[in-house]
Amino acid sequence: MNLSSGYPLWLVQDGLPYNYPALDEDIRTDVLIMGGGISGALAAYHLANAGVEAIVVDARTIGLGSTSASTALLQYEIDTPLSELQHKVGLANAVEAYRLCDQSIDTLAAIAQKIGFKEFVFTSSLYYAAYKKDRSFLEKEFAIRKAHGFDVTFLGQQEMEKQYGFASEAAILSAQGAQTNAYGFAHALHQASIKKGVRVFDRTLLEKIEHKKDAVYITTNNGHKIRAKKLIYANGYEATEYIKEKIVKLESTYAVCSEQGVADKTPFKNKSILWNTADPYLYLRTTADNRVLIGGRDEEFISVARREKLLPKKTRQLTADFEKLYPEISFKPEFSWCGVFGATKDGLPFMGPYQKLPHSLFALGFGGNGITFSLIAAEILTDIITGKKKTAPIFFSLERL
Ligand SMILES: Cc1cc2nc3c(=O)[nH]c(=O)nc-3n(C[C@H](O)[C@H](O)[C@H](O)COP(=O)(O)OP(=O)(O)OC[C@H]3O[C@@H](n4cnc5c(N)ncnc54)[C@H](O)[C@@H]3O)c2cc1C
Repeated sequence: MNLSSGYPLWLVQDGLPYNYPALDEDIRTDVLIMGGGISGALAAYHLANAGVEAIVVDARTIGLGSTSASTALLQYEIDTPLSELQHKVGLANAVEAYRLCDQSIDTLAAIAQKIGFKEFVFTSSLYYAAYKKDRSFLEKEFAIRKAHGFDVTFLGQQEMEKQYGFASEAAILSAQGAQTNAYGFAHALHQASIKKGVRVFDRTLLEKIEHKKDAVYITTNNGHKIRAKKLIYANGYEATEYIKEKIVKLESTYAVCSEQGVADKTPFKNKSILWNTADPYLYLRTTADNRVLIGGRDEEFISVARREKLLPKKTRQLTADFEKLYPEISFKPEFSWCGVFGATKDGLPFMGPYQKLPHSLFALGFGGNGITFSLIAAEILTDIITGKKKTAPIFFSLERL
């Protein structure tokens, strides 16, 4: 699957910060992780800290899957609002899913600090009304979040204008949120894990996979054999090739980053990440080097040719979206890119064992909360492997298929 096109900011900024070898021998391991993006990197980091032997193998150069395209907003807010999620999975499960995402942002911050990764900034998260009619929905959503202990404030039209400088009928301002650089973070995690004994290989495709009674037997594209007691599928949207059921609807999404010097002019620099109630939603953040990033304008197809053909138009549209909010700030697009993005029916990820593939564990953080879900998956899978847990909570599990 071709996962992204264009020039993602952090790939340009960081380039190839580390090299990893391709696998050139036969090996055995306790845990093999398929995929070295942010999900595989977090899983490996957690396993290394738990003293579990793990090997990461990626078909691409490390990070060049969806991770390099990620705009890396970290939100406890799931794509499905809490007021709707409660009807899909039950109130207690919905609140627990939100709570786990909330906690995961603190955990990601603690990990970033521990491994010395600097591009992590706590922000608030502003969920604003795209249309006047969305006010009553936001009131309902605010009430349920407040009732369950989330740190939220309701902003009316005047407060919105005063604090954020554009007209919107209402918004929910959440204290919890953050922004990072997923590509740099994944590399930093791998470097920390390698120091603890994890081996990371790239440019090695896990081609033939046999889930047998005693273990998983894999042959790579170079003909090397791997025997693993467990195989973690941290292979992002390409995992759809291994699961029979339809688990995710794949789309194309777009992002545009301004020249440097624009973030300073906005009222939300390093203060808030923004997203709105439109479908597809629009989102904004600032970057460490003083840019503004705006994304959204999703399309319901994944054809690479169609996606790339639309990139210039989407760049213009997203630029116009920013200028509509802030007509007095000039936004010159410098980097724009697009990629595959996936949404599940309930907005929740898939993680844990998949009974049809013995000794498999999945870490699929689909949706706008991909990275927070990846962290939760890393924790849960590590607990399963070390015997602390049997499975993932039902609302995240593949058993709900
Ligand atoms: C434009 C865009 C914006 C986004 N914005 C956000 C955001 O703001 N916040 C957020 O949380 N998420 C966001 N996401 C989603 C987020 O980027 C993803 O959830 C996350 O990067 C997924 O990481 P991953 O490690 O699971 O997958 P990937 O980074 O795709 O890594 C999976 C790896 O598995 C490897 N692989 C696949 N099959 C095999 C095989 N057979 N053998 C060996 N290796 C294999 C691939 O080569 C790949 O590198 C965004 C995504 C896009 C495209």
